[in-house]
Parts: sequence; C-alpha cells; structure tokens
Amino acid sequence: MIAARTLFPGGVNSPVRAYRAVGGEPPVLVRGEGPHVWDDAGHRYIDYVGAFGPLVLGHAPAEVVAAITEAAEAGGPFGVTGPGEVRLAEIIASRMPSIERIRFVNSGTEAAMSALRVARAATGRDLIVKFEGGYHGHADSLLVEAGSGAMTLSIPGSAGVARSVAEQTLVATYNDLDSVEAVLRAHGGKIAAVIVEPIAANMGVVPPVRGFLEGLRDLTASAGALLIFDEVITGFRVGPGGAQELFGVRPDLTVLGKIIGGGLPVGAYGGRAELMDLVAPAGPVYQAGTLSGHPLVMAAGVATLRALTPELYAGVERQAARLESGLRVEGASVARVGSLLTLFFRGQAPRNFREAKSSDTDAFARFFHKMLDSGVVLPPSQFEAWFVSAAHDASVIDATLEAASR
Ligand SMILES: *Cc1c(COP(=O)(O)O)cnc(C)c1O
Repeated sequence: MIAARTLFPGGVNSPVRAYRAVGGEPPVLVRGEGPHVWDDAGHRYIDYVGAFGPLVLGHAPAEVVAAITEAAEAGGPFGVTGPGEVRLAEIIASRMPSIERIRFVNSGTEAAMSALRVARAATGRDLIVKFEGGYHGHADSLLVEAGSGAMTLSIPGSAGVARSVAEQTLVATYNDLDSVEAVLRAHGGKIAAVIVEPIAANMGVVPPVRGFLEGLRDLTASAGALLIFDEVITGFRVGPGGAQELFGVRPDLTVLGKIIGGGLPVGAYGGRAELMDLVAPAGPVYQAGTLSGHPLVMAAGVATLRALTPELYAGVERQAARLESGLRVEGASVARVGSLLTLFFRGQAPRNFREAKSSDTDAFARFFHKMLDSGVVLPPSQFEAWFVSAAHDASVIDATLEAASR
C-alpha cells in the first residue's frame, strides 16, 4: 500500500508485517472467515498467520463476533471493575491453577514488563535471566542482545535502550540447564527471576527437551529466584491449561496475551496470591491502565475460551498432525507442539536459537513466496510459528499440502 509507506515507519505498525525477512510486498488483506483471508482483488488464501497467535478459532468466529457486538452495544468502559473481567479471570484461574490472582493489561509486552516488576519487588533483587531467542515483547529490559553467552552481562538489542537497563538482563541458552546453572552460580543472590517461553515459539517452534522445565523449576527455587512462564503464545493454545499443564511444571508467575483477548488487544499476568498482592492498590508495585479489562476484549476472550473445549483441542491436534506428517520438503524438518508448527529449512529441528539461526532462510523465503502464489499465507519469517486454527479442516490441510508438494 503506497500510502502506508509514507504514513508508518517501514510502512507498518509492527516490524514483521513489512516482509523484510522474505522480501516482496505483503498482500493487502481485507477480509477473513474461518481458515481463509481475501485480498483487495478478491483472491482467497489459506491463513497460517492467525494474527500471530490469537485467532485459535479462525477468522470472525460467530460466537466471538456476537459477544463483541453485544458488549459494544452495552457501552463502557465504565471506570470500575465489570462482570466481564471477573468472568474471564475465573475461566483463566480455573484452567491454570498456578494463577490465584491476575491483572489484565493491554499487551503481552506490558504483561511481561509488569511481571518482572513484581519479581523484583518480591525478591528485592535486580537481575533477570532470559533465553537467547526468547521473545517477551519490547520492554527495555527484555530487548537485550541475544547471543551474549551465559556468563556475560548483556548489551542492548535495540537502539534507544540504556546500557544500564540492558545490563540488568542475563542471557542463557534454551534447553541447556548447564547455562542456567552457570548464570545462577555467577550471580546467585542477585537474580530476581528467570523468564522463559515454556515452548519457545519466537525462534520458530522449539519444544523443551525432557527435564528442561522441571530443571528450571528446581534451579530457580533453590536460588530464591522466581520462575516466570511467558505463555502469551502457548496459553490456551497447546491445551486447556497451557504449557504448564502439558509439562506439569508450576511457575510462580505467568504472562498471558493473544488468545485470551479473542483477537483484540490484551495481556495479563498472574500467579500466587501473595506475589500478586504486591501490585497496587493491594501493594507497593505500581501498574495501571486506562483501558485495562476493556469490556469488548473481555467479552471476546470469554467467548473464545468457552469455545476451547477438550474436543476442540483434539480436533485441532488431529489436523495439525496431518499437516506435520504430510509436509515433506527436501532439506527441511518440522517441529510441532499441538497447533504450533514450524518448517525449518535445516536437516534436523533445532534445540536452541543458535541451531535455529543456521536454517537456510533463503530457501524459506523461496518456499514462502511459492506458497503465497499458491494461495497459502505463511508467517513471513523462518523464525515464526505457523498457527493452525480450529477452522482448518482436513480439506484445508490437504490443499496446503498440495501447494507445498508443488
Ligand atoms: C507476542 C508475544 C509477546 C508480546 O505480546 P504483544 O501483545 O505483542 O506485546 C510476548 N511474549 C511472547 C511469547 C509473544 O509471543
């Protein structure tokens, strides 16, 4: 879109939408229904972007559209706590028992940033540990250079981040407990929290190896640091209780977003009551939001989570498995957990960011454009997850596989 280029930096309001990793111009998409999207010329595509995660039911699911419409007609927000917030919080807490109290915010970025603030307040410590290639939104302290190695203090991964802020973040290697142990040993009593995507999904999908999450639980507990699961993608996607239920590991704090807003802007953080009671006005950690808990968002989230029944998860799992087993692309491998999937252009699926980065990104870009030409929109980077939705039925999967085989 020509006008977009002059109105927005790089023509976009979020960088990956610019297609820099694959080249070419993004299509102008104007309508979505179920598993499909349409461009402004009327061409139909199968969509695996799913708004980068939220659209677990596909585009414009009737129950979510109805819930949003009803909430819009009821007016608000009203400047006081409403029934929609309570409803959504009750569903989340009932499916994720580690969340005794929760605070809604407006983005995953805000949620991760606030969870770190709670962790620092709870422990009286300043340092945090994240993993190379882990993404937790764009708060200053979480935008550190990936690849600095386990023992070194980090430098900013973005211009405009103060070195003194970035230095508060240490980087370890995903799926490598030794690297975490080394950081904890070197900085032991100063680390407030370890934050991790329990299934890494922002370096492409990289599942945790056996024992990794359990090991993180033990290491953080003995170091007196909090364990924060960033389930912005995995929450209510990989199963009714998120990755924490799937792997049976209970974090101290959980960061949520994406699916819980049913396609509208949202984030949330929650955990043990005594930790969350540090948040204002119950406690001294300040965090606020004019539009937090917005009735439209809460209504969309409630309608979405209510639709996510065990049968629905089983159906999505079946179709995603069909996609995984049918994707036979020379020189590539598939990683999948539930409806999260990445086709890596390397012989074996990676276990960490360094391995993921060794994928053939040129081959991915060629594949991406062939698929787009064949009517399939994939996330425009080797390092994004494909999102299968409940609307992707067997015929949609088969059409995708046919395009891939061509
Ligand atoms: C998308 C994402 C975020 C950031 O959420 P926004 O709503 O884009 O700010 C944080 N963590 C993970 C794991 C994500 O995938």
